[in-house]
Amino acid sequence: MLNVFPVPAFKDNYFWVIDDGRFALVVDPGDATPVIAYLAQKSLTLAVILITHHHADHVGGIGGLLDWCDDRKIFVYGPASENIPHCTHKLDDGATVNIISPALSLQVIDVPGHTAGHIAYHAESQGWLFCGDTLFAGGCGRLFEGTAAQMRASLGKLAALPAETNVFCAHEYTLANLLFACAVEPNNAALRSRVERDTATRERGEPTVPSTIALERATNPFLRWDEAEVKLAAARASSGTFGPNAPADLVFATIREWKDNF
Ligand code: ZN
Ligand code: FE
Repeated sequence: MLNVFPVPAFKDNYFWVIDDGRFALVVDPGDATPVIAYLAQKSLTLAVILITHHHADHVGGIGGLLDWCDDRKIFVYGPASENIPHCTHKLDDGATVNIISPALSLQVIDVPGHTAGHIAYHAESQGWLFCGDTLFAGGCGRLFEGTAAQMRASLGKLAALPAETNVFCAHEYTLANLLFACAVEPNNAALRSRVERDTATRERGEPTVPSTIALERATNPFLRWDEAEVKLAAARASSGTFGPNAPADLVFATIREWKDNF
């Protein structure tokens, strides 16, 4: 039986810690301090670090964690095409990461867009997806190094995972994302009930993540470029540059740009 816990950090980051009661792995530790505090409190031994992309709020804690572990060998997995500090295992699309303790097998999915080499980790047997800053609850990452077409293709791969897959993203951006989603799709009933649910969750001080692929497909405008209301909203946002039957990449790019200025 594995536990998954979001260690909160900075303003809105989550560092996901998975453990079997004895050994732990952490995804995207941007800061060592809160991770060490959590591991110490639970008497867990760190074994593995998984990295999705090179941004400081995802890799900044690697060095501190290795120091804390002293001479013990820690495996650090990261994207092959990005410069990840202390990386021991460089991963390409389609690679499998087999971890013994905690026992977990993860498939690597290339998801360029937010950064050029961003990867996601899919633990199929658990139904878990660790997607960093690519797919967020109700939104998606900004395009820092990739094109809108790349990001749409990346999100398309994640959307094609089984509906019940749990989506563990790296930030608590959900309510702001949903506010924007409502501007795109004011008539989406599933979205309206999600807003109510997630608002109540935040009022209780709890994380809104993980969500599920099914919920993201139903409510996340960045997975819904084929929906009539999203196409229409994009056409309106383009102030008449194109109509409601624009190609999907143009719809997606317009929605992404609109969100940047929202
Ligand atoms: Zn990032
Ligand atoms: Fe981030």
